Amino acid sequence: MARSQAIPADILKIAECIWQRIDVRGPDDCWEWQGRRGVTGYGRVFLPGGKNWMAHRLAAALSGKVPGAGEYVCHTCDNPPCCNPNHLWVGTEAENVADMVRKGRQHHPRGELSSSVKLSADVIDEIRLRDRPRKELARKFGVTVYTIDDVRRARSWQHIPFSDEAAAARDAVRRSRRAKATGAA
Ligand SMILES: [Zn+2]
Repeated sequence: MARSQAIPADILKIAECIWQRIDVRGPDDCWEWQGRRGVTGYGRVFLPGGKNWMAHRLAAALSGKVPGAGEYVCHTCDNPPCCNPNHLWVGTEAENVADMVRKGRQHHPRGELSSSVKLSADVIDEIRLRDRPRKELARKFGVTVYTIDDVRRARSWQHIPFSDEAAAARDAVRRSRRAKATGAA
């Protein structure tokens, strides 16, 4: 009976909001969540009713990889904000742990902290200027885009003061984020 019914507008609206916040790229690229992130780097989505979801979990479900209760949505790319369904797989807790162990992440779930050691104080400002795509900078310095984000958001290298130019770039992004957030509300 429901076969030919229109999908309720509120459901379509939620799906649309989620895809709008994903930086969709080529099929093999990481599609990073552009909205709010938790401390571990996973995208967070606040849905009506106060429920807080992980963005990659919703992206997987919307793409037909629906995790059951107790199942995890894991990344083949090991990039927490990534929502590319091609990089996501559904696994049990045991499979998820085995995957992390295999990747050598079990003692440092924030592996980017160690990779940020590849950076040095004199390149921090270059990253904070935001005048080049983070993917390009990540490649240049041999770190993940998430490490670049951490630097830009001062989650790492906080002890290095922002230059005036870098502070201006940061404030511009904050302003546009705020404008976007109030515009969407
Ligand atoms: Zn990915």
